[in-house]
Amino acid sequence: MPSVDTLIQTIRTTGAGASCTPDLAKGPWEFDRVTGYGPGSSMGDVIPVGAPRQGALPEQYRLAANDELHARIRAAKETLGSRVVILGHFYQRDEVVQHADFLGDSFQLANAAQTVPEAETIVFCGVHFMAETADILAKPTQNVILPNLAAGCSMADMADLDSVEECWAQLEEIYGAEPDADGRVPVIPVTYMNSSAALKGFCGRHGGIVCTSSNAETVLEDAFARGQRVLFFPDQHLGRNTAKKMGVALEQMPMWNPRKPLGGSTSEQLQDARVILWHGFCSVHKRFNVGQIEAARAEFPGVRVIVHPECPMEVVDAADEAGSTDYIRKAVAAATEPTTFAIGTEINMVNRLAAEFPQHTIFCLDPVVCPCSTMYRIHPGYLAWVLEELVAGRSPNVIEVDEVTAADARLALERMLALRPKPMPGDPAPASTAHAPAPRSREGVADAVVASGGPVGSAAASDSVAGSTAAAPNVEV
Ligand code: SF4
Repeated sequence: MPSVDTLIQTIRTTGAGASCTPDLAKGPWEFDRVTGYGPGSSMGDVIPVGAPRQGALPEQYRLAANDELHARIRAAKETLGSRVVILGHFYQRDEVVQHADFLGDSFQLANAAQTVPEAETIVFCGVHFMAETADILAKPTQNVILPNLAAGCSMADMADLDSVEECWAQLEEIYGAEPDADGRVPVIPVTYMNSSAALKGFCGRHGGIVCTSSNAETVLEDAFARGQRVLFFPDQHLGRNTAKKMGVALEQMPMWNPRKPLGGSTSEQLQDARVILWHGFCSVHKRFNVGQIEAARAEFPGVRVIVHPECPMEVVDAADEAGSTDYIRKAVAAATEPTTFAIGTEINMVNRLAAEFPQHTIFCLDPVVCPCSTMYRIHPGYLAWVLEELVAGRSPNVIEVDEVTAADARLALERMLALRPKPMPGDPAPASTAHAPAPRSREGVADAVVASGGPVGSAAASDSVAGSTAAAPNVEV
């Protein structure tokens, strides 16, 4: 099966098929010069003010043929040896993933890096918030590098600290700060892993917690036990889909639009709210729609439709199942009979599943070739550049979270890790009632979940491995 990059280049040169934006065919170093080319997959998205910009890549990398770039990456990696570890996200393009030491979701990867303590540098081939999380969990002696600073996340960029603090102040005016008779505080902030370190820190400071797409329900249960309601950011869809599954009425989930007074709701609506949903979404997952599911069912009777919970509610409702990338992968791996799967998540991951499980028919619900275009900005040219800079004794593109923010963010992450996750398909039965203990130190966070990577198509994504316990936290983005 051709890689997503090959498909996009074919579309560009032959006019065949369709890609979500013609700009994807441009060299990633050109993106900064494309007016209006934003952080997500939509041409309508704009790069937020203050978002990191990548400087021009030296010409020798821009002009090099792919074969030369791969040879230079391999040579630099060999020279650096165990001093460097390369992490590749599930949504990353094959041309980069083939050089990764680990393949997984963002949190798995941040933890995987900790299994290589001798690595002085962690090269994170994902997006900006992922590199920040890796830095938060890294040892003080380790540097985290994002090969292209323009690899942001459209969803994470939709909630910034100023807007969230402004929202919080307005909510405090409405609810006050006193707990109710049961000791529950007025609001618990919950941030999705796909958010800036600043927002994770905000949650840490305000009794809040981080969630992933695989433990969102568990996290909300904890938040409802400690608070009367939840402020959920930045992904409205994950918040809505999860709370709806838990029985929260849609009328009790007002949206918070940071550009409107009281987020666009009345104070009565906010008084009645159980979950206040931030007005954010993933540009990739919002592309999925019910029509695609209907078309898949018409063409493949009996098809099993699995979508990511970042998809809109009506898509999740129309699918057979919804779950994180880890859930999706385990569901496919657990199918004992040849099965047709229509998957609603990023196309690089779907194509990799199709290559890894040839006994099944696996395709992406979206017929348009649309990768996570910000992650796509990490071209092999950038990887070659950062590795050769490291060989030369320089460290470009270091992502560093200040220590105060990092300490607060770790609090919110540790609250999440202290919770027992719900089992997923393919999970082994717990060997005991014990579960991964809540980490209490920077080092203690390290060994929760590890993903083992390898060449494209044979990459073994992680089954949860948490220390020596079977009931590991299934953390997923
Ligand atoms: S797939 Fe969506 S949420 Fe994930 S990194 Fe890309 S833009 Fe962000």
